[in-house]
This record gives sequence, C-alpha cells and structure tokens, in this order.
Amino acid sequence: MCSYRYSRLLGFFIFLLASLNVWADTPLYFVFDIDDTLARWVRPAESSLGNVTSSINDHRYRILDGAGEAIQALLTRAPNAKIVFYSGGPRDRNLELLSQLILPDGRRAIDIATKVLSRNDIVDEKSLPTGLAAWNELDRTPPSELHYDLRRHGRKDLLKAAPDLQNIVMIEDRLGYAYPGQEKNLLWVGTPPPSHPESFSETRLSRKAYIQYRNKLTRMVGLVDKALEVSKQEQIPLPDVLWKLQWHPAESGKLTYNTALLTDASIYRRGARLLAKTGSARYQFVTPQSEQNPKCLIPILRLLRQ
Ligand SMILES: [Mg+2]
Repeated sequence: MCSYRYSRLLGFFIFLLASLNVWADTPLYFVFDIDDTLARWVRPAESSLGNVTSSINDHRYRILDGAGEAIQALLTRAPNAKIVFYSGGPRDRNLELLSQLILPDGRRAIDIATKVLSRNDIVDEKSLPTGLAAWNELDRTPPSELHYDLRRHGRKDLLKAAPDLQNIVMIEDRLGYAYPGQEKNLLWVGTPPPSHPESFSETRLSRKAYIQYRNKLTRMVGLVDKALEVSKQEQIPLPDVLWKLQWHPAESGKLTYNTALLTDASIYRRGARLLAKTGSARYQFVTPQSEQNPKCLIPILRLLRQ
C-alpha cells in the first residue's frame, strides 16, 4: 500500500518536472569544425586585408564572415547550448586560432569552448566500423562537390565531444569527416571555392555562388533556428530534423543534398536576424550589392533566386 502511494507520488513528481520543462536544460552541443568553416588559411596569392589573425605557426587565418557572430547567436538562441571545436589541425594551432576569434560581446572563442578536440582526436580510417555509412546511399552524380567532400581524412567521432548523439550538431564543410552512423548530426556548410574572395570583383564565382559562400554561416544559423523550431513542434530529435531538411531522395532513389536550402531567402533571413541581434558592428549580409549599400537586405535576398 505504502509503496503504491510512493510510486504514485513519484509519478506525479516526474510529471511535474516534465511540465516545468526541467529537462529542457539538457545540453545541446554545437561541434564546430575550424578550417573552411570558421577560418581559412590565407594563401600567398590572397589578400590579407580584413579580419585576419596574426601569424600562427607561420600562417595567418581569415576569420570567415559571421564566425564569432554565429557562435554567439547559437549560444543565445539555445540557452542550453555548449560549444565544442573539433579540428584536424594541431592542438597548439587550434588553441591560438580560437584565442584570436573574438565574439561580438568581446569573449574569445577559446573562453566559451566546452572542449577543443584536435588532430590527435581524429579517428583513423583503419579503425572504423564498417557497413554503417549512410553516405553509401548518397547520389554521387551532380553536385560533384559531394565527391570531393567524401574524400577521407579520418573521421570525427562526436562521442568524444558529448555523450548523447541526439543532442549534437556538427558544423562542417567536409562530409567525409562524418563518423559512420553519425551522418545525421552533420550540418553541412558547403564546399569552399578554391580561393576566398573578399569582394565580388576578385572572383569568377557567379553572383549566386558568391552570396551562398560568403553567407554560409548566416545560412547555417538560419537552418539551426528552423531545425530547432521543427524539433520542438514535432517532438523529433534535432539530428533527424537536420537530416530531413538537408537530404532528399533523388530520382535514382538515392540521397541528394536539398540544394533549395542554398537559395531559400527565409533561411538566410532567419540567420541574418539572429546574427544582427548579437550587436556586432562587423556583421553584414554580403552580396555584390551590399558591398555598395549594406542596408538593403530584402532586395538583396532576391538575388539568390536569380
Ligand atoms: Mg573544414
């Protein structure tokens, strides 16, 4: 009798906790790649003007558009967010680079990092489990950059970053780094062009490709914002939402990247709003037009469809 009463009490207590949304505090880990996601080694032929680090192991790095803003925006958008950096670069290089990546509120990326994983944490191809890779289902016909991205560099095992895959988003420019069975956690920011243009006049990229590249972190934050909304509304784990948004069955029955995301103005608008909210003086949505007139975001977004 007594134990029955206790079990009912316990049940009521659990219900109360759930109602108060206590478990909403479960940490949500954003695992950032560094090279060509947040920063880019400045090649000898490239301009070193703009937001560029001092020399680190004889290299300077361009902090890519919206990098500090994107990190701060995610911390604000999801108050339970934790930031992990996971890069194939050497640890001393990563720590120094992250100390030079400054958020709009003045904190350094290294200050807000829950963990920094580096070259020694990359899992060698030879020690991988086999037969799990969802990428086997990927349509390898166009877009051809997917071939390039699937080149193997070793893998990033997200369980080194956090204990629960349901609460991890990996932000990465190379699909090939996804650990077998963890592909759903990946938010792909797209393949970088061969050289980084600081202005439209420096590049042979089309207007659309230029906008998509320079604003990839704006698009990433917009996509996270949308995925969090869908996850909450439909009670679906975030990695499952990201998977559904990013990968669609092609006519062949295989998976292909949902390229409509690259031109979806609503996604960029969501991201731009969150990045602007950080109060950054540096952030702007970059387009050929914005380089002359930075205030006109809405007409500029129409360019994505052209
Ligand atoms: Mg990278």
